[in-house]
Amino acid sequence: MAKTWKDKDISLDPLKDQTIAVIGYGIQGDAQSNNMKDSGLNIIVGLKKGGNSWKKAESDGHKVMSVSDACKKADIIHVLLPDMIQSEVYKSEIGPNLSKGKALSFSHAAAIHWKWIDAPKDIDIIMVAPKGPGSKVRETYLENFGTPSIVAVHQDFTGKAWDRTLGIAKAIGSARAGLIQTTFKEEVETDWFGEQADLCGGAASMIQASFETLVEAGYQPEIAYFEVLHELKLIVDMIQRYGINGMWRRVSETARYGGLTRGPMVITSESKDNMKKVLKMIQDGTFNKEWIDEYQKHGKDSFDKYMKETEAHQIEKVGKQMRKMMWPDSTE
Ligand code: NDP
Ligand code: MG
Ligand code: MG
Repeated sequence: MAKTWKDKDISLDPLKDQTIAVIGYGIQGDAQSNNMKDSGLNIIVGLKKGGNSWKKAESDGHKVMSVSDACKKADIIHVLLPDMIQSEVYKSEIGPNLSKGKALSFSHAAAIHWKWIDAPKDIDIIMVAPKGPGSKVRETYLENFGTPSIVAVHQDFTGKAWDRTLGIAKAIGSARAGLIQTTFKEEVETDWFGEQADLCGGAASMIQASFETLVEAGYQPEIAYFEVLHELKLIVDMIQRYGINGMWRRVSETARYGGLTRGPMVITSESKDNMKKVLKMIQDGTFNKEWIDEYQKHGKDSFDKYMKETEAHQIEKVGKQMRKMMWPDSTE
């Protein structure tokens, strides 16, 4: 059984005299620094001058400074920069300002696990990874609850790395929902597998293939869109709240029998073998190398060429019209 913690198991006392620099004020940085500040911790925000976030962080009441200055002042440096620039900012501004006993903290393990960052031995290296987007991390905190996090210590130089990790997790509200212990290796490999095979890659491919099957058989695209894309959320909400079996118990008898018998005809042992290949490419570093090489060569163009293809897909054109019908006032 995985090791877990709840709010009452953790004290913020070990963090009371520590300064925490949150580097980056984007999706996670904004939410996490506001939660930690509201929890009474000493937060400073490190950003690049002239960027969009500086004003925002300042107007939210934070002390904002350059990444170098924030790292100099801080005991704990919580790196919430986009993953692909962490290595570059580490080299120029974070690394040179690390000293014995400080902590380098992350919400994703990739930079350390894949050695994009080569951190010194005389610091703590820790992770608090919320299992939800930043908007949820803030929203649930303001509702006096939280978004669960998985937590890990990669390097415990001071002997206080766990106090620091758990303190941050408590201060962002995560411990109210619950914390689960992981490792840097497990976090990055399962995170990447989930988004490739299931959440983003798998789900998008399944929706597109289902849509194409119906449209190629002569059904109206609008009807196909409703059936294979729009309604998926209702099912996933049930799965999230009640589990797969709970979902089966809540759909019609025909959906239950049809889904139970036809699902395995769609996702077959061959699909599972492909999932294993995808996992292997993550574990042995093939994917990491490919992604870094691509990003170095093409930057954001690395995925833009695929994005253009999906944008041209009929489901996107129909989808725009359908979503305008259901959310007339919102823009995309
Ligand atoms: P974002 O893309 O939202 O981060 C953008 C922030 O980084 C902005 O404040 C931006 O400032 C700042 N920034 C960009 N370049 C620099 C620079 N050179 N120097 C200083 N600041 C810079 O990142 P996320 O919040 O999505 O991700 C942060 C970490 O959290 C990642 O490790 C990610 O894997 C992890 N994570 C993210 C989740 C999510 O919900 N997105 C979920 C769980 C983990 P400016 O606006 O001024 O350019
Ligand atoms: Mg994830
Ligand atoms: Mg991820």
